[in-house]
Amino acid sequence: MVDIELLKRFHTHIGPFVILGYRIGEYARKEFPENSKIRCEIRIRTSPPVSCMIDGIQISTGCTLGRGLIKVIENDGHGVSINFFSSEKSVKIRLREEKTSRILKMLKENRINESVDFVMNSDIDELVVSDEKD
Ligand SMILES: [Zn+2]
Repeated sequence: MVDIELLKRFHTHIGPFVILGYRIGEYARKEFPENSKIRCEIRIRTSPPVSCMIDGIQISTGCTLGRGLIKVIENDGHGVSINFFSSEKSVKIRLREEKTSRILKMLKENRINESVDFVMNSDIDELVVSDEKD
């Protein structure tokens, strides 16, 4: 369940990418045993709206900047990949670029509510690809 109120308080506004980040974090957490300490490395171009994801990820995983558990690596904007790892395993998640483009197009056309609904209601597997390694 996406905690929209919490996202809004932390991030000040609601958009598709902060929700997407939250959902990705929620999904990744389930791949690790409960209470395991996970870290996150994200390769992304750090400019909104796509980088709004970083806030969503921090909220749903506890991999926060203040705890030193998230590292953001600037890339050239071609694709976003997120690596979650503990001492036991890692889970690598990539955004599906065609879905990212679709969301960006909606934002460009000011169809914000539609973009939020799209990210809230799509299966996470339709939005991202994940590989798991033990
Ligand atoms: Zn945002």
